[in-house]
Amino acid sequence: MERVVVIGTGQGGFQLAASLRQEGFTGRITLIGEEPGLPYQRPPLSKDYLKDGNDARLLLRPPDFYEQQRIEIIGSTRVTGIDRTTMEVETGDGARIAYDHLVLATGSRNRIPPIAGLDRPEVLALRTLSDARVLRDRVEHMRRVVVIGGGFIGLEFAAVARARGIEVAIVEGADRLMGRAVAPMTSRHFLDVHRGWGSSVHLGQFAEAVTDAEGSLAVRLRNGSEVSGDTIVLAAGVIANDAIAKEAGLATDDGIVVDDLLRSSDPNISALGDCCRFVEPVSGLVARLESVQAATDHARTIAARLVGQPKPYAAVPWFWSNQGDRKLQIAGYAPDADDWHVAEADGKLTVFCFAGDRLASVETVGNAGAHMAARRIFANAGRVPRKLLETADYDLNAVMAAA
Ligand SMILES: Cc1cc2nc3c(=O)[nH]c(=O)nc-3n(C[C@H](O)[C@H](O)[C@H](O)COP(=O)(O)OP(=O)(O)OC[C@H]3O[C@@H](n4cnc5c(N)ncnc54)[C@H](O)[C@@H]3O)c2cc1C
Repeated sequence: MERVVVIGTGQGGFQLAASLRQEGFTGRITLIGEEPGLPYQRPPLSKDYLKDGNDARLLLRPPDFYEQQRIEIIGSTRVTGIDRTTMEVETGDGARIAYDHLVLATGSRNRIPPIAGLDRPEVLALRTLSDARVLRDRVEHMRRVVVIGGGFIGLEFAAVARARGIEVAIVEGADRLMGRAVAPMTSRHFLDVHRGWGSSVHLGQFAEAVTDAEGSLAVRLRNGSEVSGDTIVLAAGVIANDAIAKEAGLATDDGIVVDDLLRSSDPNISALGDCCRFVEPVSGLVARLESVQAATDHARTIAARLVGQPKPYAAVPWFWSNQGDRKLQIAGYAPDADDWHVAEADGKLTVFCFAGDRLASVETVGNAGAHMAARRIFANAGRVPRKLLETADYDLNAVMAAA
């Protein structure tokens, strides 16, 4: 194979290129991305970057890395189409670039809910470094902010804003925070934490419109009440960037469908990270995960296959979210959890999430040791019966020894 072309210069695109070189690939590697500049990490954008504004610290590698590793980056360039017959991609400026293997690492974009008035300049979103720069400048002058969306990114931003003394209102349509991703007890914990920091949290309230209100803005909620602010931060989830794959005739289903080797329905095209739908190996469930872990481990799996060492994707999912001084960590994947066991001691929270008779995930707050133990248990044992936890009295070290 002579040339690997990657669409997307984000977390997964970068890792694919780096892993290919680590695995000894000597052919040409070309990354094409619509964002300007070098690959950077997004997680700090809703956390430390809003405090320190340090661009250099975001870079995944310094500029000379790409030269040394012969990784070609074509930035500020959008890929508009894939010609699977000629095996070429077409860019916005009309150029055609040939590939022997194509990797789709197009990530996701912010979901824009149908709320009237979102086109106002005071409504900001957070996905890219360019978004974060605008938000960071704005934070300097913000007095009251309304955050639409009580998911990870909205809550991380809310924590930063509160710590700066900004009045914060969080509006969430579901009846609990981070409801798609964590156990009810973890939602409850963070509801108390955010309220304790002084944020007002409006649960079960969909935002319907952004309107003018006496020198500032108001977000009208479905129940008719209004929450005012000088800035609105929209953090209502993301959707997969799978349109070019779909147009090229690849199988998609809210994400590019891939097999256990991360191959799309065309064997010459792989997909990874936020934009792909894959079988999560621990639960066996089909998933689309938005995490650094998934993008990175997908990339490693694809790189190994491209150098002739195919191994089915087997990584344990894990995730973190820093909200103020609270570090939430999740090991495993539990959209189907139906029962929970909570252990709380010394300011550390551990929630064991069960799906039927198996352990599906472990959520921890301020308990990195338990998080790492849970990851090791999933990695070693795969399926962990609930009985094992009960017998070990929920002591993860004992479970590890027995698993
Ligand atoms: C503010 C924020 C905070 C986060 N915090 C955490 C965290 O704490 N923990 C965690 O695990 N995860 C976190 N994430 C999620 C994590 O950053 C993503 O899951 C990860 O970046 C996914 O990597 P990716 O390569 O799939 O996509 P991305 O890193 O999003 O990269 C995709 C790239 O593809 C480009 N692209 C898309 N379409 C095209 C096209 N047609 N042509 C050219 N280029 C294209 C995009 O512009 C983008 O640059 C956070 C994300 C954000 C936005």
